[in-house]
Amino acid sequence: SSGADSLYRVVLLGDPGVGKSSLANIYAGTQEKDANEHRGEESYERTLTVDGEETTLIVMDTWETEKQEQAENWVQDYCMQVGNAYVIVYSITDRASFESASELRIQLRRARQAENIPIILVGNKSDLVRCREVSVEEGRGCAVVFDCKFIETSAALHHNVQELFEGIVRQIRLRRDSK
Ligand code: GDP
Ligand code: MG
Repeated sequence: SSGADSLYRVVLLGDPGVGKSSLANIYAGTQEKDANEHRGEESYERTLTVDGEETTLIVMDTWETEKQEQAENWVQDYCMQVGNAYVIVYSITDRASFESASELRIQLRRARQAENIPIILVGNKSDLVRCREVSVEEGRGCAVVFDCKFIETSAALHHNVQELFEGIVRQIRLRRDSK
């Protein structure tokens, strides 16, 4: 297949402090940031080989803007429109962020109604076992209700981060191949 066919935008959503930028930075590895840094935008492009096939993901850590003012709305609307896949992140140590994740899922469904876009719900900070406020079962249950995939990660320990991005690639391919 051509290169253009295997280039996908993946947007990170979630409350401040849940670990979006940490996950994006692990994804980016040693690669340089994109030139698109105006308006606080940050996106990272990398090609992964998953199951013997190459796919390029542009991971967009653009949900939180520097200026939390009028500009924010259109940036967030833009994020809701441009993703080929979404990663909704909460922290397992922060119940409010888990509730926000549900709201984001609803917002996304509203913005992209008829489309069957891959979405992965991510419970990050799984290393902080003693501060856990959201159980694995609750996370998994939420993903069932919202008809999306689920994974717990630890950006701090790099645990399941590779698996997260490979999972996105597989979800994208499943939808592509069923067309
Ligand atoms: P963002 O606001 O969603 O982009 O979150 P950041 O990536 O900036 O992370 C917020 C804070 O949480 C930082 O101090 C990170 O070092 C910390 N953090 C992120 N992921 C993890 C994790 O998996 N485990 C632990 N213990 N801390 C984390
Ligand atoms: Mg951030």
